[in-house]
Amino acid sequence: MKSYDAIVIGGGPAGMAAALYLVRAGVKILVVEKLASGGQMLLTEELENYPGFPDGIKGYELADQMAEHVNKYKFDKILDEVQQIIPGKGSHEIIVAGVYYKARTVIITTGVVFRKLKVPNEEKLLGRGVSYCALCDGNFYKNKVVAVVGGGNSALEESLYLARLVKKIYLIHRRSEFRGLKCYQDKCNADSKIIPVLNSVVSRIVGDSEVVGIEIKDTVTNEYTVLDVDGVFIFVGFNPVSTFFPAELQLDQSGFIKTTCEMETNIPGIFAAGDIRSKNCRQVVTAVGDGATAATAAFAYLEHNNA
Ligand SMILES: Cc1cc2nc3c(=O)[nH]c(=O)nc-3n(C[C@H](O)[C@H](O)[C@H](O)COP(=O)(O)OP(=O)(O)OC[C@H]3O[C@@H](n4cnc5c(N)ncnc54)[C@H](O)[C@@H]3O)c2cc1C
Repeated sequence: MKSYDAIVIGGGPAGMAAALYLVRAGVKILVVEKLASGGQMLLTEELENYPGFPDGIKGYELADQMAEHVNKYKFDKILDEVQQIIPGKGSHEIIVAGVYYKARTVIITTGVVFRKLKVPNEEKLLGRGVSYCALCDGNFYKNKVVAVVGGGNSALEESLYLARLVKKIYLIHRRSEFRGLKCYQDKCNADSKIIPVLNSVVSRIVGDSEVVGIEIKDTVTNEYTVLDVDGVFIFVGFNPVSTFFPAELQLDQSGFIKTTCEMETNIPGIFAAGDIRSKNCRQVVTAVGDGATAATAAFAYLEHNNA
């Protein structure tokens, strides 16, 4: 079985920062990422709040730059999914594609996945009008009419991106006001292409082979209306990526990993960083900070528990 000082699970900003700090400290590491380096940054059109980029930076550009930086150093990488973590005394094992790997420390940075609306036709029409990524699919809707569902930062931010491409956006939210940052609300309100549809929930996506509309229910009057749209972009929150966690790992009520401020979990030698941990602010800058903190704590753990 291949053995490491540290295994980093996930290659988003938290994972890349953790890997960078560990490898620069001379720690023998393995990084396992199931898709591509960058995590949610690859779904982000533009980041305007990452320090050092006064004119903003495209999500994929920041992801590429972080990957280029960490890849200057030599370490083992696997592009596949971690299926299980088996905690042990002194060292832990992970399983990837049926193969076991061992490490004295593990840093979990698996982030979040988007929530579904769970309405009829959402699954069936995925990729045929239903999308969870404006940056990936926005171009298909040039000069067309779309709906965006949600009221938080992602929904508002993605609406602003889509407004540059599409003819009209119905921005549908179940409450009477949006809960995203005021700066995004102001920009959406100022954009004549964005039509707010408040106090409304999506009850059905309409279409046989592709989306042709959405049925919404007014939560005040209980009336149903069908809006003609060519696509629907869904941004209604997220869940932790946690299916492979060991049973003894302590989570909060929503399934996020509880950590100390040093990113230690309740299992000695297992750390968590980024969006996957229980916290309020889920951003690239906090993910990177968590990753660096987790790596530093893992390094100290390795030093103090030198076999
Ligand atoms: C549309 C959108 C816009 C955003 N805008 C901004 C913004 O403007 N500014 C900002 O600061 N933040 C923004 N964010 C949030 C920011 O992208 C996240 O907070 C940040 O990416 C979290 O980093 P992370 O490394 O913790 O997790 P993630 O970025 O989610 O990365 C987790 C990684 O783990 C991998 N993974 C998951 N499970 C496994 C497994 N079992 N095995 C191996 N690998 C696994 C995933 O493939 C993924 O690459 C935005 C997010 C979205 C979706």
